[in-house]
Amino acid sequence: MTVPTSPGPASPGPAPHSVALDLVGRTALVTGAAGGIGRACALRLAAAGAKVRAVDRDAGGLADLTECAAGLAGAVEPHVLDLTDLDAAEHAAAGTDILVNNAGLQLVRPIEDFPPDVFSTVLTVMLEAPFRLVRGALPHMYGQGWGRIVNISSVHGLRASAYKSAYVAAKHGLEGLSKVAALEGAEHGVTSNCVSPGYVRTPLVEQQIADQSAAHGIPAERVVSEIMLAGSALKRLVEPEEVAEAVAYVCSPPASFITGASLPLDGGWTAH
Ligand code: NAD
Repeated sequence: MTVPTSPGPASPGPAPHSVALDLVGRTALVTGAAGGIGRACALRLAAAGAKVRAVDRDAGGLADLTECAAGLAGAVEPHVLDLTDLDAAEHAAAGTDILVNNAGLQLVRPIEDFPPDVFSTVLTVMLEAPFRLVRGALPHMYGQGWGRIVNISSVHGLRASAYKSAYVAAKHGLEGLSKVAALEGAEHGVTSNCVSPGYVRTPLVEQQIADQSAAHGIPAERVVSEIMLAGSALKRLVEPEEVAEAVAYVCSPPASFITGASLPLDGGWTAH
């Protein structure tokens, strides 16, 4: 379905590459790089000159991303990996200067109907894997006295919504993990922050619209206008490139004093 994404007259929309960022010589790892936000982050960091280790279980999506990255200042190296293999995830993060924990999944279901195995998978991919990736990345970051951990959280890391028990639990946990990494990493030149968007126009959201439509028994168009954007003062979805630009910002020199923070891109949702 088509969801309203176009910025209104008062909304400038995405301003790609407004952040000055030079990552030549840096290695970044982006998880979920075949998806909407991860892909935008991988391309943004590669455009800044980074060598990007693009991790996803979706080999086809990674191949497409790699093709798209041809001609950028940096490079994208596909790494097909299912993050539920936690040992492999930790191993993959070794030697990275920038870690973007982005991979995620969603199931919208009341708690009493929520399958326990899916709850466990969501927590594994969205909380335990980030912990293991941070663990794998820190020795190199600490060794060189510089590192950037960026956790793609969500407005749901800061606020709850019904029917999203696993997702909200995982994102609240990720916000906590990010703060602990910030405190421990400070003396080693490593910052850790969350970028916490409202609804972004990606395949994950398209699926949620369908799921919410079934859960609430209302048409998809009303899910977007009456449920998804109900808490947002700005009535549009966020573009993946806007999220990627926020990631670029927290990796940039002017953001070096920002750590342990959560940067909401939520159209005012958390202002309530
Ligand atoms: P997406 O579905 O487009 O992409 C998610 C990617 O994660 C996919 O490519 C998928 O293959 C990958 N992935 C999932 N499970 C994996 C596993 N076990 N191993 C390896 N890869 C796996 O989703 P998106 O909208 O781009 O979301 C990216 C992140 O942004 C997620 O953490 C999500 O919670 C967060 N987020 C999204 C929105 C939104 O509205 N889309 C809002 C706030 C936060």
